Amino acid sequence: MKKWKLDRYYKNNYLYRSHTMMLTEMHEKTIYTCRDCQFFIKIIGRQETKTACVISIPVYKKRIKIPPPEVNIYEILKHISAEKLMQLVENSFPYKTACPKFMVKKRKV
Ligand code: SF4
Repeated sequence: MKKWKLDRYYKNNYLYRSHTMMLTEMHEKTIYTCRDCQFFIKIIGRQETKTACVISIPVYKKRIKIPPPEVNIYEILKHISAEKLMQLVENSFPYKTACPKFMVKKRKV
């Protein structure tokens, strides 16, 4: 099997991922999921609302802007194409284990 196919197989195999061994120190780092991340935001469209990780959008990646918890779709479409936005929405899952770029979502006081 080709390497990229093997990588994708293990990445998408949630049963395998849920049984991986974890050092106790690592638990602290992996308890968060994408839904706790500041970059996982609601994108409000005309008919429906979807969630997506916006870390790949340059203004948020370079920290020029802080991503708001909810944003209008037109605000996102100023920075990326509709096809790219579709990819973001399809590849974002709220219960995925957080990546190294994770930032804790700020809570309202
Ligand atoms: S943890 Fe990583 S993948 Fe998940 S929303 Fe945050 S930046 Fe995106």
